[in-house]
Amino acid sequence: MEIAQTPKNIVIDPQKLAKLIRKPQKKRIFMGLLLVTVLVLSTILIAMWKISQPGLDNIHPGLSKICEGLVFLIAFIMIAGVLNMTLAIEGLPFVKILQRQMYDLIRILFPISVQLGKIFGISRRTLEGSFISVSNLLFARRGIKVPADRLLVLTPHCLQLASCPHKITRDPKNCKRCGRCNIGELVTLSEEMGFHFFVATGGTLARKVVIETRPKAVLAIACERDLMSGIQDVYPLPAVGVLNFRPEGPCYNTKVNMDEIKSALDQILLKEDSK
Ligand code: SF4
Repeated sequence: MEIAQTPKNIVIDPQKLAKLIRKPQKKRIFMGLLLVTVLVLSTILIAMWKISQPGLDNIHPGLSKICEGLVFLIAFIMIAGVLNMTLAIEGLPFVKILQRQMYDLIRILFPISVQLGKIFGISRRTLEGSFISVSNLLFARRGIKVPADRLLVLTPHCLQLASCPHKITRDPKNCKRCGRCNIGELVTLSEEMGFHFFVATGGTLARKVVIETRPKAVLAIACERDLMSGIQDVYPLPAVGVLNFRPEGPCYNTKVNMDEIKSALDQILLKEDSK
């Protein structure tokens, strides 16, 4: 059997590699569970209001009306938020000013969706992966293009070969490009194309780099959990997420599919002649 030798000294069977590279999760998993979450919450809120209605009337006749208005307003905002996101995903006209609220809604409802997902046998990781697919599609729908010098590419430290002695978190150019991990290829791409490239050891450093480089868009490479929180953290900055894969387990000698990175760069970057 032919063995693929992607980075030098790292030999991965092509069949194993194909299994390791994670396919984008279906968008309907996240959207479906979000809608179920919103409907369940709305039903609970309305039921709570109905149960407490006689008591509220006893306290003050107007109190029940105020609570009714609040309950239906919250239910309306949640359902409208999910529907707005569905319109955006389907490429139909949607209310752009509600995008911030969409991410806020996701932040609030996601933990409940995770619990509901367990009932349907959907793991948190699958749900996070599906969110990333949704978020990437929303990015594409917005038709965002930025010049290379306004794009920030961020990767986690675990993408660097664990035994590599070179300190790349301060300056990725310290990488000697030996080919044993993907960092070298990313440094070379950043020099060729002109985008900012940083290796972040955590969320705090990532936020610091975002403040310092003032990008117009971010391409983040990470696992589902970090991409999920990172994309929401940097909003309103548009961000595309590319999942890493873990031939040696989580957070250790992780890898990224460079073809996926190149196609994401192709999607985000303004072509020279259109600047
Ligand atoms: S960080 Fe650079 S020098 Fe270190 S292993 Fe990766 S490619 Fe080689």
